[in-house]
Amino acid sequence: MQRIPPPVTGVSRPFWTGGAQRQLLILWCGTCERWAHPPRETCPGCGGALTPQAVSGRGTVFTFTINHHAFNPAVPVPYVIAIVELEEQHGLRFTTNIVDCDPEAVWIGMPVQVDFEPAGEAWVPVFRPAGPSTLSEIVGTAERSIGVLGQAAITGAA
Ligand SMILES: [Zn+2]
Repeated sequence: MQRIPPPVTGVSRPFWTGGAQRQLLILWCGTCERWAHPPRETCPGCGGALTPQAVSGRGTVFTFTINHHAFNPAVPVPYVIAIVELEEQHGLRFTTNIVDCDPEAVWIGMPVQVDFEPAGEAWVPVFRPAGPSTLSEIVGTAERSIGVLGQAAITGAA
């Protein structure tokens, strides 16, 4: 997708450029122990300092629309404009695109995982359907699940 670069300002720079290191950076208030988005100078709760921290990149589709109108001839339609809520905090949401997915297959509540698309100096956070996509990831997930069950069994016996 040929993207129009977003305006990268002082407070929004981490959000727009963290993708260069494959990190979704959201501002965090250590005093309130809360995330703050959209980016701003100070914490809306306590007025204290905010620092960019990497989040997991996992979230769910809060709501979405399928755009059929070619606003930009370089961007093929249809595509999905969505509001994704990050798993870290209730209400921590932003507008984005769902990629690598048939637009008709998107649903509210769908688990998604962040990815990044370059646009000028920015790396725009977009989301793709979450879940293991390779055999090794599937096996890894299964092994971790078994490990958790094993741990529970040991704890239960102790
Ligand atoms: Zn605060």
